[in-house]
Amino acid sequence: MAGHGFGQDEYDVVVLGTGAAGLTAAVRAAAAGARVGLFEKADTVGGTSAWSGGTVWLPNSRHEAEAGVRDSREEVLSYLLSLSHGLMERPLVEAYADTAPEVAAWLEDNTPVVFEVLAGMSDYHPEQPGGRREGRSLECPLFPFDELGEWADRVTVGWQLTGEFCMSESSLGRRAPNGLAPEELARRKVRDERGAGQALVGRLLRGCLDRGVVPRTGCRGVRLLTGEGGVTGVLVDGPDGPFEARARGGVVLAAGGFEHDAKLVRTFLRGPLERAVSVPTNTGDALRMAMRIGADLADMREAWWVATIDVEVPGRGRVPWQVNSERTRPHSIMVNDDGARFTNEAANYNALGNAFHVVDVARFAYVNHPAWLLLDHHFASRYGLAGFRPPAPVPGWLTTAATIGELAERIGVPAGALQATVDRWNAHAAAGNDPDFHRGESHHDRAWGDPAFGYTPQATIGPLDTPPFYATRVRCGALGTKGGPRTDANGRVLDVDGAVIGGLYAAGNAMGSIMGMTYGGHGGTLGPGLVFGYLAGGHAAERAAREMP
Ligand SMILES: Cc1cc2nc3c(=O)[nH]c(=O)nc-3n(C[C@H](O)[C@H](O)[C@H](O)COP(=O)(O)OP(=O)(O)OC[C@H]3O[C@@H](n4cnc5c(N)ncnc54)[C@H](O)[C@@H]3O)c2cc1C
Repeated sequence: MAGHGFGQDEYDVVVLGTGAAGLTAAVRAAAAGARVGLFEKADTVGGTSAWSGGTVWLPNSRHEAEAGVRDSREEVLSYLLSLSHGLMERPLVEAYADTAPEVAAWLEDNTPVVFEVLAGMSDYHPEQPGGRREGRSLECPLFPFDELGEWADRVTVGWQLTGEFCMSESSLGRRAPNGLAPEELARRKVRDERGAGQALVGRLLRGCLDRGVVPRTGCRGVRLLTGEGGVTGVLVDGPDGPFEARARGGVVLAAGGFEHDAKLVRTFLRGPLERAVSVPTNTGDALRMAMRIGADLADMREAWWVATIDVEVPGRGRVPWQVNSERTRPHSIMVNDDGARFTNEAANYNALGNAFHVVDVARFAYVNHPAWLLLDHHFASRYGLAGFRPPAPVPGWLTTAATIGELAERIGVPAGALQATVDRWNAHAAAGNDPDFHRGESHHDRAWGDPAFGYTPQATIGPLDTPPFYATRVRCGALGTKGGPRTDANGRVLDVDGAVIGGLYAAGNAMGSIMGMTYGGHGGTLGPGLVFGYLAGGHAAERAAREMP
């Protein structure tokens, strides 16, 4: 026992959080010979990463080359830096571009992680210099969860990813738009094969377990321990009370963002974040721990923004659903309370945050937030929404009307303005373009549209001309926040004077993101999470090996 009465465990590297960033840091450190303590606040492991699509944006990988896409460090740099708006730091972006291919290869060579190119998925701004239409987004093939033994039931499953979704690759939408055949579903059930974020987390977790890193759940890191040379460990609140996890090499903060802490959200974010779709345990613990010992902060105003609607799920009540295909496929638009369209609805979800955050200075109001999602019968009967699939009845929580005028009345927007908006949209849809907001011009918009139309504007543009019409509120949400302690290119946390805080690292959404306002491509949050988890875990293990103070 330590002098102050807490139990004490000794490690080379301590990792807080079992999302993809934490698992990557842990497996990398263990592979370098470190004794790793991996602590998770929740009772299950995997964090939001396990709820996710599991796609990772790792540009310039060997898979991209094998797929015949020519890429280079320089093009990755030009692409990202063209999206910086002065918020990205070149050395960190360079570290990312340099390390992403290595991480993809290292994980495949040293863990059960396997990647393949997410076919047909483009960068989120493919027309920018250095942008690509395909090849940089990777996903894991299905992973049989029976390989996890007792841990199979201890990986968190998000409600958006239950049932068939849980057993699907994230690319399934393009490969099998109407879902899986019953025989294939039955086959996948035999060994509990899971796709998307479950596959990524399952594979990383198996890699950790194989190297003797067993996560300890119900263990919340609460305070960093410091001594000469910096951070020496962390005080953990566990199921049997508090204890000290000592770390000779370092502590890696991979405990997610602060999106579920209302005060931190209000303090730091640049505009409304009303719905967080991440695990509820992401309450900014890492941020507070780092601030307490004088860490500098980075990218605090930003989040990985998403548009959300509230849906009613039996047994869960009203829960936020991130609306993607519901706004990128034909026969749907978004309008504000004035009944006007205000953006390219099919733009990438992160960029849409900018449209929601517009303030009309005359009215001093967020004029586009909350907004409305409008659909017609074509949309509802062809695609469904929020997990509902035709021929199941349209969900009762949608506002329904026989005419646009009646819909306007029901949702309280000016009927004349809404009718004019829909008429104008329908006229442009007939011509197959959107001169107002350029929907369907980017390859990105087409890639997120209805695959039946290929990569044409019609994949995302279609009229709202068939009753009944439907409406529901859209609110700005986030997959997670981006801000956290500022780091160097090895994931080492810097203090307010720019000096390295010895023994402290950050990765994933707990780290001040290197991406500024941007989302590079599908997998744009998990890609950096893996890269800086890898760098931090490797550096901390090396530090332990050198037995630095
Ligand atoms: C439906 C959905 C789909 C998505 N799809 C994608 C996608 O395809 N590609 C992509 O790049 N991104 C995607 N995202 C976003 C992505 O999931 C997150 O940005 C990413 O998982 C963050 O990873 P992380 O490791 O930083 O945090 P998380 O995976 O959230 O893990 C953080 C962990 O830390 C734990 N923790 C918190 N506090 C403490 C503490 N004090 N001590 C110990 N542990 C603590 C939490 O309980 C949690 O388990 C998606 C998100 C959602 C919701």
